[in-house]
Amino acid sequence: MKKLINDPLRVVDEMLEGVVMADQRRVLLEGENIVVRSDYQDLMMAGKVSIVSGGGAGHEPAHGGYVGRGMLTAAVAGPVFTSPSVDAVLSAIMTVAGPAGVLLVVKNYTGDRLNFGLAAEIASAAGVRVEMLVVGDDVALDDDAGRVGRRGIAGTVFIHKVAGAAAEAGLSLAQVKAEAQDAAAGLFSMGLALSPCTVPAAGQPGFAIAEDDVEYGLGIHGESGVRRGRIQPADAMVEVLLQRIVERGSLERGDRVALMVNNLGGSAVQELDIVARHVLAGCTSRGINVEAAMVGTFLTALEMAGCSLSLMRVDDRTLKRLQAPSDASAWHGMTVPVAAIRRIPRVKTAEQDTLQGSGWPQRNEHAMRAVLQAVSHALQDNESVLTELDSRVGDGDIGISLARGARAIDDALDSLALDRPGVALQQLSAILRRVLGGTSGPLYSVFALRAGVTLAAHPHPDTIAAWAQALQAGCEAMIRLGGANAGDRTMLDALIPAATALASQPQDVTSLRAATEMASAAQAGAEQTRHLLPAKGRSSYLGERVLGHVDPGAFAVALWMQAVANALVAD
Ligand code: ADP
Ligand code: MG
Repeated sequence: MKKLINDPLRVVDEMLEGVVMADQRRVLLEGENIVVRSDYQDLMMAGKVSIVSGGGAGHEPAHGGYVGRGMLTAAVAGPVFTSPSVDAVLSAIMTVAGPAGVLLVVKNYTGDRLNFGLAAEIASAAGVRVEMLVVGDDVALDDDAGRVGRRGIAGTVFIHKVAGAAAEAGLSLAQVKAEAQDAAAGLFSMGLALSPCTVPAAGQPGFAIAEDDVEYGLGIHGESGVRRGRIQPADAMVEVLLQRIVERGSLERGDRVALMVNNLGGSAVQELDIVARHVLAGCTSRGINVEAAMVGTFLTALEMAGCSLSLMRVDDRTLKRLQAPSDASAWHGMTVPVAAIRRIPRVKTAEQDTLQGSGWPQRNEHAMRAVLQAVSHALQDNESVLTELDSRVGDGDIGISLARGARAIDDALDSLALDRPGVALQQLSAILRRVLGGTSGPLYSVFALRAGVTLAAHPHPDTIAAWAQALQAGCEAMIRLGGANAGDRTMLDALIPAATALASQPQDVTSLRAATEMASAAQAGAEQTRHLLPAKGRSSYLGERVLGHVDPGAFAVALWMQAVANALVAD
């Protein structure tokens, strides 16, 4: 277990201390793990209903994050994944109970029902007006009849919001409860887990999911789901959730809903947006109108990877409650989705159709085509080798970037002005500029641009001297733009020796011979980078740790230069 904690047994206490230290709008109840709005007394005096929720910890930002104006008045936290005690819940109720009373919003778990339920009984016997609403939104399990009923999961956050906004609007306890109950009756959720999670006090994951498996309908405490499945593309897995929610919720064309895409804790933000994309498209294709949406981390199972979807039927009133302002720290508002992606037209940059440059014979044109193909293949074939190298000393993306560039070269082959090599290089520069990205992108682009301009102006672009000048000009441009120089452990350590080798070739040498010399100079230069300390680029953060490894950028240069030579052999 690797976690940012101090004492596994004090995780909840310390977390809540952090919560209230960071936010003056929230306080802790003495001796309890209960977060309360700092202005709770004003609220009671104003005759507003208080909303109390909670449950086991481990679902952060629920529930403390929803304490704030227009949402919860207090949130009771139990130990991780364990219901809070009757007495804790009772303390919360007694603290925030004003004349208008208290609504308890409880997720449907036996422990929570009993502890919140008994606390409500005791408070009510003591004369407090208290009502309880149990939320069961999880449609994963087959049937609710005769069993404990649907579990309460992430959709409950919508109920906090509806109840909180209704209370803030000054409604009576009965009215607040009725609104929340209506909303809960049309609320359907289901989750998908990709990994387990570790309760700090337990020290190891509560269960296991094999590397290639996922679990549909897993509970937010790791209770078993409906079924295991193989990992599939996100759309296919999300469709399983969506289809079930639509069925269980009897959602039909024309229905109006609010959507929540919730991170179970350990998934990347980008994955949630990919999930949202499919759900929104899936709803549109079914004619279901998603009128409000939120995508983010709302109710988690510690660091479990995966997500849950919730759809809630809405009418104008519920929508108003969802859209009402709240200052709870974990409530970020809801957005209004659109039925189709809207794109605005791009402003075009001046393009290269008008470029001029010296031409060369047709056989050179064929040779250049063969060379570009060979370069492209070499980079694509070696994608994983480059990835591996860059993972050791950089961020691992150079293989992907260069393979993407290589495919773009392939795609562009027929449209390049191969009869005028200087123009073709400038066209390549524009392509690389668009597709490469990263550090290599602009550097390769400036290299090809300057080399192309030089070659275009040269009266004899079919000579080795012209290409040597072009390469040297390319290197100079790269030095100017990137600020690195020979010896800084970059691709320049392959490019510069290669350009120099080409420049020192005798006039009458064959292009094959010249290219071979150029490629072996690049190879030797790349090899030397093993002993160089990085000064530029991401490797520089690693310092001496890169020693012994070849710089991936230099390695790539050696690769494609070798491909150039090979293509000329084949020519
Ligand atoms: P990043 O991951 O930083 O965006 P890439 O993975 O696309 O970069 O490329 C990394 C390679 O770029 C390095 O191996 C190095 O050869 C080269 N590089 C980094 N900085 C420079 C620079 N200033 N000049 C020339 N080449 C550089
Ligand atoms: Mg990189």
